[in-house]
Amino acid sequence: SDVGSQKERVVTEEEWLKKWEMGNIGFHKEEGHPLLRKYMDVLLNGRSGLRIFFPLCGKAVEMKWLADMGHNVVGVEVSEQAVKEFFSEHSLPYCEEPVPEISGAKMFQSTSGNISLYCCSIYDLSSLIVGKFDGVWDRGALVAVNPCDRQRYANLMINLVEKNSSYLLVTVAYDPNKHKGPPFYVPESEVKSLFG
Ligand code: SAH
Repeated sequence: SDVGSQKERVVTEEEWLKKWEMGNIGFHKEEGHPLLRKYMDVLLNGRSGLRIFFPLCGKAVEMKWLADMGHNVVGVEVSEQAVKEFFSEHSLPYCEEPVPEISGAKMFQSTSGNISLYCCSIYDLSSLIVGKFDGVWDRGALVAVNPCDRQRYANLMINLVEKNSSYLLVTVAYDPNKHKGPPFYVPESEVKSLFG
């Protein structure tokens, strides 16, 4: 297919914040994603106490699922509203603190300590700041990244995962000439070339 039509499209952080303010969050799944239920075993691979990363996390309820299963969840999200809604909608007490390495960034952490959400751009993170992860749930993340930033995003994700990690990626197949995105169309051939 012709993905050329989406190549130049850019959605700014301000536009994302506006979507949250206006409640234009059709991507949010109140019931969680059936594909994570289906492939949970692939993500966990029989292991317990994992560090699981949620890039561009929004207020994904799957973060609560994994925390309840005893894993450590780390997410990153530019919208502070989204992060606060996550904690309040699950009635989870939290504290917030600045992130010394990233100017303007805040980290919101559940009082129990097993969910940490960074409020900043994902491009501000590195493994020096957040460590490395055993698993990644990438839904509404690679496909939400501006096409011009995809390689940078993939390089960062590769840097953030341990050698023996599992990475679940959800993409959306459709004709990119008929919808401007996001979600953007990321064909399998591109996933292969991005992640090697
Ligand atoms: N993964 C979530 C949200 C998908 S929508 C889910 O499955 O529901 C994409 C999210 O990424 C939005 O909440 C948007 O505010 C956030 N976002 C966009 N650009 C970002 C960036 N550079 N860094 C961190 N978050 C970003």
